[in-house]
Amino acid sequence: MVIEAALLDSEGWFLTSTGTRTNFHIKEARCRCRECDLDLVDQRLVDVMQATRDVVGGPIHVTSWIRCPQHNARVGGAPRSTHVPQFWGGLNKAVDFSSRLMGVNELAIVAGRFLGPKGGISAYESRGFVHVDVRPTWAMW
Ligand SMILES: [Zn+2]
Repeated sequence: MVIEAALLDSEGWFLTSTGTRTNFHIKEARCRCRECDLDLVDQRLVDVMQATRDVVGGPIHVTSWIRCPQHNARVGGAPRSTHVPQFWGGLNKAVDFSSRLMGVNELAIVAGRFLGPKGGISAYESRGFVHVDVRPTWAMW
């Protein structure tokens, strides 16, 4: 199986699939447990996030990106969460985020537009963030 992980430049910034530097840094993506150092993110997710960020026109706040299985369990994540690389062929496929410049419902619409027919999306209005993932099927909740 070919792992299509998003590339990073020498300073740790993610690159889009066309090779341009994004506004997302590996430090924002790493698991919050501070005990693992997983850094493989699906390239499609990085592309969707940067396209969304370009529409927002300002900072995106990352709530949760890569999670190791232990951290996922600790935060009450789904059993086969798309945040966990080990459950998805070694690639992280999900990020939770918000922005002070746009409400979560609108953010979800923008990100969903870039997601196309395959992927998962949810606007957690009461918790103030959007979940986006690049799973191989369509899911909205
Ligand atoms: Zn971890």
